[in-house]
Amino acid sequence: MQIIERISDLQDALRGETSIGFVPTMGYLHEGHESLLERARAENDIVVLSIFVNPTQFGPNEDLDRYPRDAERDQAIARSAGVDYLFFPTTETMYPYDMARVSVRTGDDVLCGASRPGHFDGVLTVVSKLFNIVRPARAYFGLKDAQQLALIEGYVRDYFVPVEIVRCPIIREEDGLAKSSRNVYLTETERREAPLIQQALLHANGMFASGKGVLEVVEETRGRLARIAGTTIDYVEAVDYPSLKAVSEDTKTILLAVAVHFSGARLIDNLLYTRGA
Ligand code: AMP
Repeated sequence: MQIIERISDLQDALRGETSIGFVPTMGYLHEGHESLLERARAENDIVVLSIFVNPTQFGPNEDLDRYPRDAERDQAIARSAGVDYLFFPTTETMYPYDMARVSVRTGDDVLCGASRPGHFDGVLTVVSKLFNIVRPARAYFGLKDAQQLALIEGYVRDYFVPVEIVRCPIIREEDGLAKSSRNVYLTETERREAPLIQQALLHANGMFASGKGVLEVVEETRGRLARIAGTTIDYVEAVDYPSLKAVSEDTKTILLAVAVHFSGARLIDNLLYTRGA
């Protein structure tokens, strides 16, 4: 595995390659990231992993400065996952001056877009830069960040970006907590409570399956999350997926997404429910 910091070095290394699988991350790798790398390894000749904590997707009071980092451990995981090139750019490389941003016009007014203004402009800005640098045939994203995935799919479709976006399932801890780099922020007590998030989502799945309406499911889920000690709910929302519009009679797949604040971490999780499946 080669670790590359400069854009031109990566472009030189990738020249002539056509089967490139790309996994963009912010590092502090866990089995969720590894599952994306495994899939990329299976489907491409070359696997590129990027690790870049992207400042433009963090709000002024968010956790940019204390976002967990462990370069050595990440490199060991990347090596054993069969990564060919680890792209590890500096902020100055990605943003040498105050640049124009890609701007999200639709699908940004709900869920994380509503509670983190500008977040998805930052995500699409960095993803678009990375796609232009790496020029992958396929790029792998987790459904853990379902709204992000839908917005990236929309961006690729609307701008005719020549890349296939591959959706990967959420990887969880044994007790059901979705794996996240931010789980390290949880206190011991919070870590014990955190699986209740998935339990609320599983209950919601049962309610959808038994024909309950969206409002009722959202309210019941909100009630269950409200019972997790010491937390506050950021949002509980159901939208059509992947359009991210309001659920209608025509909706085939519902995204029920939640965000919960613990003392030192804001965690997200979600459920995709396909009607009549
Ligand atoms: P991050 O480093 O958190 O920005 O995530 C990088 C990529 O890994 C994104 O496509 C995420 O959706 C994906 N990812 C993060 N956590 C998980 C998980 N628990 N299961 C599957 N994919 C994940």
